[in-house]
Amino acid sequence: PFYQGARFLTAATRLAQAPPDTGCEVAFAGRSNAGKSSAINVLCHQNGLARTSKTPGRTQQLIFFSLDESRRLVDLPGYGYAKVAVAIKSQWQGLMSNYLQRRESLAGLVVLMDIRHPLTEYDRQILAWGEGSRLPLLVLLTKADKLRRGPALAVRDQVARTLRDRGEVQVELFSAFARQGVETVQHCLDRWLEI
Ligand code: GDP
Repeated sequence: PFYQGARFLTAATRLAQAPPDTGCEVAFAGRSNAGKSSAINVLCHQNGLARTSKTPGRTQQLIFFSLDESRRLVDLPGYGYAKVAVAIKSQWQGLMSNYLQRRESLAGLVVLMDIRHPLTEYDRQILAWGEGSRLPLLVLLTKADKLRRGPALAVRDQVARTLRDRGEVQVELFSAFARQGVETVQHCLDRWLEI
């Protein structure tokens, strides 16, 4: 599978440090602890690729992984819980808004939300930047294994209803543990990256 070839390319604390803005890339955003690293690792069949961690709010960096010479995946910084320092939050806002609004090679945005806490203020901020840039959107409701099927589908429908007036948007259940939704995500990325 294509994503198995993903490898770490570089980390950037400012947009100016990002790799050249050519080819195309897909970015993953999610609040700390949403399950973003676990999702990236499962999608790429590599356990140590994105670092999973229980400590919220690590360094604010854009992490670039290359798939081939012209395609990339990007792990966007999350931030922790409500108590995050104002300085960290404003640095995060600067980096994220810059990236989401200016990056020409960005072909689509994956937003990961814990299925038990969807559409937080953090998520809404990211969705607003994505909408401003007319980015196709894939919302993954993570840790879907934590809910039974019925309640999980009810959350999916509710989130889809909330986002229905946006442009291209898809909402899916996802579980890294149960490997649920992996192929759906890969198909979506294939389309965005024209694989
Ligand atoms: P990140 O901070 O968004 O990168 O989140 P991580 O991938 O590090 O995961 C955060 C926590 O959620 C960890 O304790 C993971 O073990 C747990 N987690 C991640 N994916 C799943 C999943 O599919 N199901 C369940 N039940 N827990 C998960």
